[in-house]
Amino acid sequence: MVCGNIRVVFQLPSIVRFLVDRNQNVRRRIIDSMKKYKVQKAARTPFQKFIAYTVIAALHVIVVLGILSGVEARDWIMLLAVYLACGMVGVNAGLHRYFSHRAFRTSRVFQFVLGWLGAITMTDPISFAGKHRIHHRYSDTERDVHGPRFGFWQSWFGSLVDHGYTKTELQARVKDLTGFPELMLLHRVPLLATATTGALIWWLGGFSMFAVGYVLALLIFINLAGATNYFCHKYGSRRYNTDDTSTNNMWVNLITMGEGWHHNHHYYQASANCGFFWYEWDPTYWSIRLLAILHIVWDVKTVPLRVRDRLADNAELAAHIS
Ligand SMILES: [Zn+2]
Ligand SMILES: [Zn+2]
Repeated sequence: MVCGNIRVVFQLPSIVRFLVDRNQNVRRRIIDSMKKYKVQKAARTPFQKFIAYTVIAALHVIVVLGILSGVEARDWIMLLAVYLACGMVGVNAGLHRYFSHRAFRTSRVFQFVLGWLGAITMTDPISFAGKHRIHHRYSDTERDVHGPRFGFWQSWFGSLVDHGYTKTELQARVKDLTGFPELMLLHRVPLLATATTGALIWWLGGFSMFAVGYVLALLIFINLAGATNYFCHKYGSRRYNTDDTSTNNMWVNLITMGEGWHHNHHYYQASANCGFFWYEWDPTYWSIRLLAILHIVWDVKTVPLRVRDRLADNAELAAHIS
């Protein structure tokens, strides 16, 4: 087993080159075959979009002002804490793997904790899960607004500013979540978690901690989401027979704590681990395992080995796509 894994590591460059070459062909054929979906209409007015872009620009200004005002070590420590608590646990484990895909179970109290931590990043569980389930359902079609199909800007920022879905459509995708009043509160009161947590951090550590420990974290989250949306449907490697352009991207993986195994994830969405093999960096999954050891979460789903090992070959891919 160990020898096999070592051999795989040494063969990685040629394996990746092979997968990427094959992927160019597969990607072209998938895109060419996607014709049957309607173009999504914008859900926000130009004025609402202007406000949203102004907020993003203002966040950058706040960070610069915070750095100019003098930064202390504790501000960077807060940034790391917010990154891990809100980014890795709140967004990755909470909004993505729990609320969107139900990859594990937990209590109603901790469900709300996950929802709150994720909502700090300027979204909420119902909006995120609704939009994300649409992404999986309509990957790489015109209904999938945050893939690279509509260009870099739309994929990176545009789909955050205006994802094109109405609240009714999003809520229809997440009927398992809309029955919880506390999740509906986060959904109906935009920025509730963001604003109150930001005010708390300012009260705790002053303006520099608010700017660097919190607002900079929000900007990092915005860009990490953009990087995953764009790069993980454009550059990287593939190994399974999926009906989309998803890729595994190591660089996205490193900065997102395991979300870059996006192709693995498209292949088997219900799994709490997106890194399928022991050597595939997935700290988000490790955090879920830790929560399971502490009995805070349970019934953690993972990809069955026989499914994981069903790697595609060229003939399978070609037959499936055509
Ligand atoms: Zn997903
Ligand atoms: Zn995707």
